[in-house]
Amino acid sequence: MDFSFSDEQIMFQNMAREFSEREIVPLLEEHGEADYFPPEVMGQLWKKMAAAGLIGVTLPREYGGLGIDNVAQTLIVQEIARTCGGIAWSLSIDLWFSMYINMFGTEEQKKEFIPQICQGKGIGSVAFTEPETGTNPKAITTRATLDGDEYVINGTKRFITLSNLDGPIIVIAKDSETEGGNKLSAFIVQKNVPGYRTNPPWKKIGMHGPATCDIYFDNLRIPAGNLLGEHGQGYQILLDTMEVNHLTHNAVMLGLCQSAYDESVKYAQERMVRGKPITQFQTIQTLIADIAVGLEVSRSQLYRFASVMDAGELNDVQVQSRITRIFLSETLNDVARKALRVHGCYGYTEDFKIARIVRDALFSEVIEVVNDVQRIILANHLLG
Ligand SMILES: Cc1cc2nc3c(=O)[nH]c(=O)nc-3n(C[C@H](O)[C@H](O)[C@H](O)COP(=O)(O)OP(=O)(O)OC[C@H]3O[C@@H](n4cnc5c(N)ncnc54)[C@H](O)[C@@H]3O)c2cc1C
Repeated sequence: MDFSFSDEQIMFQNMAREFSEREIVPLLEEHGEADYFPPEVMGQLWKKMAAAGLIGVTLPREYGGLGIDNVAQTLIVQEIARTCGGIAWSLSIDLWFSMYINMFGTEEQKKEFIPQICQGKGIGSVAFTEPETGTNPKAITTRATLDGDEYVINGTKRFITLSNLDGPIIVIAKDSETEGGNKLSAFIVQKNVPGYRTNPPWKKIGMHGPATCDIYFDNLRIPAGNLLGEHGQGYQILLDTMEVNHLTHNAVMLGLCQSAYDESVKYAQERMVRGKPITQFQTIQTLIADIAVGLEVSRSQLYRFASVMDAGELNDVQVQSRITRIFLSETLNDVARKALRVHGCYGYTEDFKIARIVRDALFSEVIEVVNDVQRIILANHLLG
């Protein structure tokens, strides 16, 4: 399989690298200690990212995207993650929202929502998790009740990333128009409108930049036409888009792996012990070699997944999506801890970037369905 990049793909990679250095590094210097960037800072960053052509490159041209392949998108997210995992992850969620619309939306919904994402006018989110469930869809209690030509939404969603920022959000809720009113449907909602409220952001141990909040829906009204896909299709839509979104999500992990490698090589070359750089110790050489192996195999697996996605065979996408997620998240955690060991005690301080990478890595095994459950889903695909 050929994993060499086209000139166009390399151009997007370079654009993302330059953008990160120009726009994200200064933000980290100013707000890096904080759990999340102020909403107006995120809003401005998104407009700049869109103007730089980095949002929605895979989305169709007729709705404001660039219609380019998945590899280019993967390279963009990966480059941003080398600088800041939290911002790359935010971009991945924003794109996840647009995938819902692109894969399941009507023509009107695509015309309304995809351009605002591509232009960075709003930041998309997805709300599935609730206080009583992150894994079991049957435990969802948020309800959407049809009232005339509107749905009325009531309920609470937990841990929803970017939910404090203006823009659209997909809400998975029990739909009054399904059997017994008990099946899940997907709805498109605007954030920060009457009936929509978020609590102060959760204090996270990593992935700083985006805020993660609970949402309270209190008789929030949306047009009935904001149902996405068919009645009762909500859980399947969630799973289908999650599989596709694993590409950018895993690109965040690869970017963090790359950063762990870069940081440990740089540190090892600069750190002197008894007048010699620590690169001369076999212990350090072994660690660096292990990190390089993890990085390179992760890279191959991610681009294999990207090429499978571009080929578009659903069963292959479902299998490769899970394999990539499980392998990259666990490799990232291993690589990050080894990179911390290269740094010795200095790695345990905030003076070195590796501390942030270790914290960011922890999230990768638990987010968007924990790895244990990913394994069960993968086995079901494999065993039929
Ligand atoms: C920082 C952050 C950001 C987030 N952003 C979002 C977001 O934007 N949108 C959103 O909807 N959610 C979001 N989440 C929620 C996240 O996706 C869920 O927390 C995650 O899916 C796990 O759900 P849970 O914690 O409720 O686990 P639970 O469902 O409570 O599971 C707990 C444990 O039980 C085990 N388990 C559960 N079910 C099974 C099973 N069937 N078989 C075997 N073992 C099982 C698993 O090993 C799991 O570790 C976010 C969470 C965090 C921490």
